[in-house]
Amino acid sequence: MPIHLEGEKLQIVMDYLFNYKICRNCGARNPPDAEKCRRCRSRNLRPKRFKK
Ligand SMILES: [Zn+2]
Repeated sequence: MPIHLEGEKLQIVMDYLFNYKICRNCGARNPPDAEKCRRCRSRNLRPKRFKK
């Protein structure tokens, strides 16, 4: 089934897919507002965000 998304809906989907942080220590995916990694509690997180 083809997925047809446009404009605002596409932006929401992209935010959902790309708006998170990756732990540099263990590689776990964390929420975008996370201060610490939920797996290893490291603060060494890098944001992964969609950019145009
Ligand atoms: Zn971690």
